[in-house]
Amino acid sequence: MENKILGLHHITAIAGDPQKNYDFYTKVLGLRMVKKTVNFDDPQTYHFYFGNETGSPGTILTFFPWPRAKKGKNGVGMATEIGYSVPEGSLNFWQKRFDKYKVRYENISEEFGEKFLPFEDPDGLKLKLIISGTKDSREGWEINEIKKDVALKGFHSVTLNLYNQVPTAAILTHIFNYKLKKQEGTRFRYSTDEVENASIIDLLEATNPEKGINAAGTNHHIAFRVKDELSQEFFRKKIIDAGLNITGKIDRDYFFSLYFREPGGVLFEIATDNPGFTRDESPEDLGSSLKLPEKFEPSRERIENLLPKLSH
Ligand code: ZN
Repeated sequence: MENKILGLHHITAIAGDPQKNYDFYTKVLGLRMVKKTVNFDDPQTYHFYFGNETGSPGTILTFFPWPRAKKGKNGVGMATEIGYSVPEGSLNFWQKRFDKYKVRYENISEEFGEKFLPFEDPDGLKLKLIISGTKDSREGWEINEIKKDVALKGFHSVTLNLYNQVPTAAILTHIFNYKLKKQEGTRFRYSTDEVENASIIDLLEATNPEKGINAAGTNHHIAFRVKDELSQEFFRKKIIDAGLNITGKIDRDYFFSLYFREPGGVLFEIATDNPGFTRDESPEDLGSSLKLPEKFEPSRERIENLLPKLSH
């Protein structure tokens, strides 16, 4: 009964300069930094989490910013476009804002009857602002220049670039209970009815399939959301039964994670709602200070000296 995939939990990408990354997502796009921590496998690197007020699942975009990262390239076997849901009538506001901040963007266009504005972050990561064709009652985080009537609400969808969409679709439909809803050209739209938002995965068959390079400006993995660890274990068994390799449960402090590579090459994660971002900070203070996993606390001073300085 409770064993459901509840849409997207978070998406993780690679960035270059941490300050540019922080400024773009908090000051230009107006997201809230809900956690400032380090890469648990490489504590000299930050791990930033940007989301709505509380960092609700389905709103969280995370980055590993490496100041000397090489520029990556999108290709097959990667998540290549991140779609954010924005309020009806807000695209003109965003075009003007992108002009003001010299953000690279393309013309407003339409897909599956929904208008969208494609743009890039400072590292070339591809994103889109989409007017959702279905109800999205989520409210975005407000900053001075970006009020709720234009603020990003959270994820609308993510696009996976594939050589052939069939094997990936089998995971989505047979194991995660997604359904094929629409198709336009080589773009196949799958979604789950278990949640209202962050429910869409577009599978795009590449017309010119080339391998990508996973470095700055590209996505590292996408995480699907489950309620808790019992539900996560249920899906772990299903993935094993499907003949795929999957990791054991990993404690990420703010959620528990499992990772597996789907047959199309994209790294998938299954992440829990618990314990959430308020486990070590109050809701008002989210993202305001550097948080470290317990094992790194004794080395805090050394880690703080090694991390690039970041001004908020
Ligand atoms: Zn993740």
